[in-house]
Amino acid sequence: MRYFPLFLDLHGRSVVVVGGGEVALRKVRALLEAGAMVTVVAPHVHPALADACVASRDDASKTIGSVQHVRATLPANAHGLTSASWFQDAWFVVAATDDANVNAAVAAAGEQAHKFVNVVDDAAHCSAIVPAIIDRSPLLVAVSTGGTAPMLARRVRRDVELLLDAGLGRLAQFFARWRVRVTAAVAAPARRRELYDQWMDGDVARLVRDGREDAAGEALAASLISAPLVTSAARGHVTLVGAGPGGAGLLTLAGLQALQRADVILVDRLVSAEVRALARRDALQIEVGKEGGGHSVTQEEIHRLLVHHATLGLNVVRLKGGDPFIFGRGGEELLCLRAAGIPYSVVPGITAALACAAQAGLPLTHRNVARSIRFATAHCRGSADETDWEALAAETDTLVLYMAVAQSARVQRELLVRGRSARTPVAIIENGGRPEQRVVLTALGQLTEAVREHVVRAPALLVIGEVASLAGELHWFGAVPVTHPSEATRLSASA
Ligand code: SAH
Repeated sequence: MRYFPLFLDLHGRSVVVVGGGEVALRKVRALLEAGAMVTVVAPHVHPALADACVASRDDASKTIGSVQHVRATLPANAHGLTSASWFQDAWFVVAATDDANVNAAVAAAGEQAHKFVNVVDDAAHCSAIVPAIIDRSPLLVAVSTGGTAPMLARRVRRDVELLLDAGLGRLAQFFARWRVRVTAAVAAPARRRELYDQWMDGDVARLVRDGREDAAGEALAASLISAPLVTSAARGHVTLVGAGPGGAGLLTLAGLQALQRADVILVDRLVSAEVRALARRDALQIEVGKEGGGHSVTQEEIHRLLVHHATLGLNVVRLKGGDPFIFGRGGEELLCLRAAGIPYSVVPGITAALACAAQAGLPLTHRNVARSIRFATAHCRGSADETDWEALAAETDTLVLYMAVAQSARVQRELLVRGRSARTPVAIIENGGRPEQRVVLTALGQLTEAVREHVVRAPALLVIGEVASLAGELHWFGAVPVTHPSEATRLSASA
């Protein structure tokens, strides 16, 4: 091991930053966050650094985390530096100038005076290197390649950043508050470790993450009473996760983290293989999607599976396309879990309307064109059509219809008889947000024909309203939108 990893407590301690440019500014900001008393030594400083110095001087109440500027042109030899008082006072020195000679002189001065020096981007001159960090204070993860491959450190940092959810800092603080009591109550270290694992994998951590620290404290205290003797059975949990439209990039971080904590995942048909591949490898994935004509699992069976696995104490994720609360029956599933006394949480997803609109270049609201949006479905269960066509036809802004492609003839007929103009623009977006996305632009009067001629298949969405035509101009993703009827057909018809 070439370096000894170490965290420095710089609160209220003097640190020198040599150099006043942008690199120095970045370092100063990080040092201020750690509460250091920073002295910047440079002939001139970046305007933002100058501002920080002024703010620091004016805020006399501040005794830690301050910055001042010493105007100096640095001597090119180490000896001249070691005699400066700002150098002698420093616990730690950072060289951040763009002059390699000055940086080397600072490093040499540090060597003479037994002070650790970090020379930015110059590992060879460093006696201290600064790692990339993942900050979930008080939890801090530091990543370093010893200055040899910063690009690799950045990648690792990004990967770890994705793995550690933002609530981890709160979790660390929570356990810090309980630590003394836990140690007093449970003498055996092995048993304590077991308990901490149980809390972190179970209810206690979940409650903290959900912002319910009081309840988390109660749960922890309750298990402490019986802790020395018995292992209380872990309680299961269900997380409803919205997977977004398909591409992994449109899954939320919270969704990713839930997938990586899951024991069992009940997956919808609409969820892409790309998103499923992100789940914890050991998780059992059960497909409960309703494939047209093929194998299908009833809603009751889904409820039974949710309750069954959660009751076994497992971490269950119910993974749905788009958002779980938009035509996703998420509410019904929560009602069932509530009735069964199973704790749950919900991670929203990007619903098809938002994803399709964004990726088709179709703003759902647009100045002077549309100020409101209605998400509706034209899908009818059984034979009864309970759709409120009056309300849908009265929608003069943007109307987004889910599950409507098979019903396009009905949509066209019902809206036209209630007075919507046959010229109202319609965008049909198939496989929105996926590489195979297709957009067909037409008008309400030609909707059925367009669906038939272009063989539109589910999943597809209808956007009805003036904004729909903007996709012709603003599209940026996937295939160029096609217009129905095509220009050529129109010309030959009028000829
Ligand atoms: N909960 C989901 C919607 C489920 S209903 C959500 O919030 O997006 C299923 C309908 O969503 C489909 O019939 C289709 O109308 C729409 N849909 C879902 N994904 C889609 C996609 N990638 N492209 C177009 N429409 C999609």
